[in-house]
Amino acid sequence: MVPSRSDEDFLEKVRASLDIREIVAGYLPLKKVGGRYRGLCPFHTEKTPSFHVDAGKQLFYCFGCGTGGDAFKFLMLYEKVDFPEALRLLARRYGIPLPQRVHHASSERQALLKIHQAAIAYFRKTLLESSEGKAGREYLKGRGLNAEIEAAFSLGFAAARWDGLKSALLGQGFPEAQLLSAGLLLKKEETGRTFDRFRSRLIFPIRNLSGECVGFGGRMVGEGEPKYLNSPETPLFHKGEILYGLDLTADAIRKNDCAILVEGYMDFLSLHQAGVGGLAATLGTGFTPSHARLLARFTRRVVVNFDPDSAGQAATRRSLDILLESGFEVRVLQLPGGKDPDRFVREEGSQRYRELLESAPTYLEYLARESAQHVDLASPAGKIQALNLVLPYVARLESAVERSEQVKLLSEVFRIQDGIVLQELKSAVAARRTNLRSVSISGPADTLRGPAARLLKLFIELPEARQALGPSLGDEDLAGSDVERIWRVAKDMAVEGEMSYGRLGSRLADPADQDLLLRLASMPGPVANLCEAEECVRRLREGRLARRLQELQQKLESAADGAAVDDLLRQKMDLRREIHALRSAPAS
Ligand SMILES: [Zn+2]
Repeated sequence: MVPSRSDEDFLEKVRASLDIREIVAGYLPLKKVGGRYRGLCPFHTEKTPSFHVDAGKQLFYCFGCGTGGDAFKFLMLYEKVDFPEALRLLARRYGIPLPQRVHHASSERQALLKIHQAAIAYFRKTLLESSEGKAGREYLKGRGLNAEIEAAFSLGFAAARWDGLKSALLGQGFPEAQLLSAGLLLKKEETGRTFDRFRSRLIFPIRNLSGECVGFGGRMVGEGEPKYLNSPETPLFHKGEILYGLDLTADAIRKNDCAILVEGYMDFLSLHQAGVGGLAATLGTGFTPSHARLLARFTRRVVVNFDPDSAGQAATRRSLDILLESGFEVRVLQLPGGKDPDRFVREEGSQRYRELLESAPTYLEYLARESAQHVDLASPAGKIQALNLVLPYVARLESAVERSEQVKLLSEVFRIQDGIVLQELKSAVAARRTNLRSVSISGPADTLRGPAARLLKLFIELPEARQALGPSLGDEDLAGSDVERIWRVAKDMAVEGEMSYGRLGSRLADPADQDLLLRLASMPGPVANLCEAEECVRRLREGRLARRLQELQQKLESAADGAAVDDLLRQKMDLRREIHALRSAPAS
C-alpha cells in the first residue's frame, strides 16, 4: 500500500514529538556518559553496559550484539510488535490523534487481542453463572481465593465440552481460522474438525505488561491430564517471555527493589491475596534469559521460591544460573515441610511466610546446603565432590572480599575442621579456582587420627614423651588442629608434673573438648613409643611449613613489583631448605 500524504504527515508528527532517551529510559535504567547514555542491553545478556543511546541523533546502538536503530525499531524489538503497532503506541504516548486509516487498520495482533477478550468474558460467565461452572467455583472455594482476587485476575472456567468456546465465539462472528491461530481451538488432522483446547479447566488469563490478555493457562479440575495446560506459542503469546501477574506487581517490585519469583498461578494468587507484594510467576515452565531481562526492567534483586520437590529444585538451580549471569542478586526461599508456597501460606499464614522471606539465604548458602545434602559428608571424597559443585559459583564473585566471606559459610556447611583443607579452600576461593586440589579432607571420624591428636595421646600416656618433647613443642606446632585447646591445657599440666586423662578432662571448659578427650582415651592404637611421637612432631611441622609455602606461592602469584617478588622468592627458598632439613634430621 502506498502511504498517503496524511500518513506521512502523521509519521513525521510522531517522529518530531518523541525522545528516544525518554522512551528507552522507560524500559531500562540509563546512565549519562559523556554526551551519550549507557545501559545494559535488553537484547542480549551482559553484565557490563554496551548499549548506548545517542539523544542528538535519536538512535540507539549496542556494541555487544550490534542491534541498533531509531525509537520505532526499539519498540518493535522490545515489545515485539510490527511497525504500525509501534507507531500507534508512540502516538498514544505523545497524545497525537490517529488518522482514520491507521486507526481502522486492524492488524492480526488487534484481532487476536479481541478474541482473547471475548474468550475471557465467556470463561468468566461460565465460572460465575453456569451450572457447569460449579466444579470451578468449588475448586476456588477449596483453595480459599476470594471474589476480589478472582475478579482482579479475571479467573474463569472451561466446561467439559468440545465446542463451548468455539460455538460462542463463532456466534459472535470471529472467523474459525483466527480462533485456531489464537490457540483456542485444536484441529483434528484426519477429519479437519476443530474443537476447544481448554476443557474441564480453571482458566487463568495471562496478560502482558500492558495488561492485554495474550494467552491462557488452564488447570484441570477433576480427573485428567495434563494438570496444567497453557496456550501454545502464537503471534501474541511467547511463554518464555512473559511472567504471570507482572502487569499488576511491576510497581511494587520497583518500589521494593525486589521480586519474589514463584512457579505457578496458584502460588502467585494465594501469596498475592495474603498481601505478599512484588510477586511474579513463571507459567509453570522454565525460567528463561528473556524472563531475566523482563525483571531487570524493575529490579536486580530476586528471591526464588519454587516448589520443594526435585523438579522445583532443578528449576531453582537453572533459574539461578540465568539470574546470576544477568547480574541479579539472588536469594532462595525453601519452605519447610515440603510445602509449595500456595499450601504454605494457606496453612501457616502470611506472617510466617514473610518471616521466612526476610531470612531467605543467599543463593550460595542454598547451593552449599543443597549440595551437602546429596553427598556423604563423612567421606572425604564426598566433601570434595560437594565443594567442587559450589566453587564455580564462588569463583564468579568479582570481589575478593565477598569471596573470602564465603569461606566461613562453606567450612560450616561442609564441617571442615582440618586446617590444611581449610587452607586449600581459602586458596582456591582467593584464586577463583573452580575446584579443590586433591587434599585429604578429614571429617570428625578422622580428627583423632591426625598427628596432633595422636601426639596428644602419646604425650598423655608416655612420661618419656613429655620429657623429651615437652620443652621443644611450640604453640605454632599445634595451632589450627582440633585438639589445640586440649593441648594448651595438657602442656601446662605437664609442667606441673601431674598427668592423667581424668585430671586433664576436669580442667577442660568446653564439653566438646571433654568429649574429644574421652574418645581419644578410648581409642585403641599401637603401643605408644617415643619414636612415633617424634614422627608426629615431624609431620605437624611439615604440615605447617607446607601451608606457609602455599601462602607464599599465593602471594607470589599476586605480587606486583620486582622487589616484593625477590623477597618472596627468598622466603620460599628458606622454607624449602627448612622442609628438607626436617625430613632428613630426627625431630627433637
Ligand atoms: Zn546488545
